[in-house]
Amino acid sequence: MDKLIITVAPNGSVARKEHTPHVPVTPDELVEDAIKCWKAGAAVLHFHARDKDQNPCLDYDFFERALTGIRANTDLIVQISTGARLGATREDRIRAVALKPDMMSLNVGSVNFPRGGVYVNLPADAEYWAAAMQEHGVKPEIECFDLSHIEAGARLMDMGLIRRPALFNFVLGVKHALSYSPEHLLHMIRSIPRSPGDAMWNVIGIGPHQLKTTALAIVLGGHCRVGIEDNLYYSYQVLATNAQLVERAVRLAGELQREVATPREARGMLGIEGS
Ligand code: ZN
Repeated sequence: MDKLIITVAPNGSVARKEHTPHVPVTPDELVEDAIKCWKAGAAVLHFHARDKDQNPCLDYDFFERALTGIRANTDLIVQISTGARLGATREDRIRAVALKPDMMSLNVGSVNFPRGGVYVNLPADAEYWAAAMQEHGVKPEIECFDLSHIEAGARLMDMGLIRRPALFNFVLGVKHALSYSPEHLLHMIRSIPRSPGDAMWNVIGIGPHQLKTTALAIVLGGHCRVGIEDNLYYSYQVLATNAQLVERAVRLAGELQREVATPREARGMLGIEGS
C-alpha cells in the first residue's frame, strides 16, 4: 500500500470558540496550530478564513497571512477552502488561487446542508474553478458529498481540467447529504476512475464517524482527514485539539502497520511541485 496521507482541517466554518476553545480563528492561531499538527504527522492542512467575529469569510488578507506563516514554519501541503459564503460570487470563491496555495478544495456538485439551505455548485462554476486552479498550478481536491459528484469530477478529468492523479475526497455523515456507512464508502471507492495512476481517494467522517473513516482509510489503502472542522471530540464529551486527532491517526496507522507519508512524500504521491 502507498503511505498514508493525513490531512488536518483545523477550523472550517462552523465551530466557534464557544463550542471549543481549541479552534483556531485568526491567522496567528492557525499558524500555531499548523505547526503542532505538522509535528504530529499531518502532511496536508486544509483551512478556512474567519472575520473578527469568527464568522466564515473569504478574506484574501487572512488567507495570505496564514499561508505565509504556515510556509515559513513548516513544509506542509497547504490547501485553501473555496467553500461558499452567503452572497459570494464564483469569482470571490476562487480569488485566493492567486496566492498559489498547493491545493484548493473543488466543489463539483450541489448538496443540501444542515445550515444555510442548498450549497450551490453548478457544473459551469466547477469548470471555471478547475480551470483557474490549473492555470495557477494549484491541485484540486474533488469534494464528493454524493455519488454524482464523483461522476462530475471524472467529467472534469475527461475535459482535461484536472490532472492525474485526481484526488477524490468522500464526505460521509453530513446531515441531509450522504450518511456514514462502510457500504457507502466501499461503493464510492469502486466508483472513482480506476486506471492505474488516474485517481486517489481520501475520506472525511463527520462527528463520531471521523474515527471510523480514519481506520477504514488506513486498512483500505486510502487517505484520511481529521480535525475540528469535521469533529470537535476526542471521545464522548471530551473535546479534542487538532494535534491530538492527528496523533491518534498516526498511532492507528502504526498499529495497523501502514506507514505515514511526510509532506515531501505526499507531494510526490499527489504530483504537487515544491519543497
Ligand atoms: Zn473545509
